Amino acid sequence: MKHIAILTCLNACGVCTGASCLRAWNRRERGFAPYAGEDASLEAFFHCGGCGTDPETDDGMLEKLDRLQSIGVDTVHTGICAVKDRETGELCPAIAKIQEMLRSRGIKTIVGTH
Ligand code: SF4
Ligand code: SF4
Repeated sequence: MKHIAILTCLNACGVCTGASCLRAWNRRERGFAPYAGEDASLEAFFHCGGCGTDPETDDGMLEKLDRLQSIGVDTVHTGICAVKDRETGELCPAIAKIQEMLRSRGIKTIVGTH
């Protein structure tokens, strides 16, 4: 069984309910289409630590990553709100770093939710 989490931009929380991410998950659409018909569970929905924080020294982020690992999350999907440049697909540097940290813990990273 797959254990999935979603990572998003903290700034987006000011205006976003996460509904589009959850709708895509519930319907196994867009970034989640590969899980259609698969036994997969959405285990967590988390955000970066905010602009100006360094994920590598942010105790809160380290705790979040520990938690994801402890519940067996194997894949983290990053939302479109964490993409800095929609033309090139370049991620916010903080998110790119969090993805590296996830991969170093053996967790797969994918860009795309809805
Ligand atoms: S660091 Fe990047 S992803 Fe996090 S709140 Fe700031 S802009 Fe959003
Ligand atoms: S990807 Fe879209 S729905 Fe998901 S948290 Fe970001 S802005 Fe909200």
